[in-house]
Amino acid sequence: MNSPIIGVVGAGTMGNGIAQAFAVAGHAVVMTDIAQPALDRGLKTVDASLERLVKKEKMTADAKATALANITLSTDLGALAGADLVVEAATENLGLKLDVFAKLDAVMKPDAILASNTSSISITRLAAATRRAGQVIGMHFFNPVPVMQLVELIRGQQTTDATYTAVEALTRAVGKAPVAVRNSPGFVVNRLLCPMINEAVFALGEGLATPQAIDDAMRLGCNHPIGPLALCDMIGLDVELAVMQVLFEGFKDSKYRPAPLLVEMVEAGWLGRKTGRGFYTY
Ligand code: NAD
Repeated sequence: MNSPIIGVVGAGTMGNGIAQAFAVAGHAVVMTDIAQPALDRGLKTVDASLERLVKKEKMTADAKATALANITLSTDLGALAGADLVVEAATENLGLKLDVFAKLDAVMKPDAILASNTSSISITRLAAATRRAGQVIGMHFFNPVPVMQLVELIRGQQTTDATYTAVEALTRAVGKAPVAVRNSPGFVVNRLLCPMINEAVFALGEGLATPQAIDDAMRLGCNHPIGPLALCDMIGLDVELAVMQVLFEGFKDSKYRPAPLLVEMVEAGWLGRKTGRGFYTY
């Protein structure tokens, strides 16, 4: 059987990483975005990422050239007509994704699989925007994609076993580690990680300990590679707040209420590393 052709929608942080992973594994990849500059930036990011591997002698210059040549670019979703699997990694917005899913459904082959990298939107809901609900699944990659091994595979209400099995095999074939998760707010990683970070912010707000002491406690007492507040600065306080809101709304359970200090810091524009100030200054 020929190697499946992969489509990627969105050439941003996640999209170009996903394109790289499949291209390095030998798949032809068609990466699409709404505008050419976004595509050019995405391909430049892949080029730089592969060049670092060449410099570290983890990849040959020939293998890099082959991987890059596997990626073609288009601003037209119609270019995905020949794809066997499309991974949607466009901006996190329900209306936008519903629109993209309906359009993809119209252009893709009837037997092709449509996956979303969404962090927070219901796969069941996205599937219902198509006439191929059984062939819709969540593929939740982690940032940075070339480095992180995990892919949460999210089964929507309608996802068939055949779809799951095919996507699981493809995930392993690109060297990633799939875990099966049922469609539910935050899936597994964000469901567990974000409440822990949120609790650290509660502790800070209550004056339990300094940011450094809270982070040291979790690093040295639980062997975490990084403390929860330093990690929140990396993720972005706004992103952490958005996930807590998804969990709070999704479960209607007060245990997921965002810490007041987190809300206030986001209001102040202190979003972590990307703004130079969060729980620490940069
Ligand atoms: P990003 O802003 O870096 O990239 C999004 C890209 O989508 C942009 O290039 C934008 O031009 C493009 N886009 C917007 N509308 C489009 C359309 N109609 N058709 C095609 N392309 C379109 O965002 P990101 O961080 O890469 O996030 C993408 C998805 O991945 C989101 O669903 C997000 O929840 C999810 N995700 C993000 C992370 C992360 O750490 N950044 C981790 C896991 C999952």
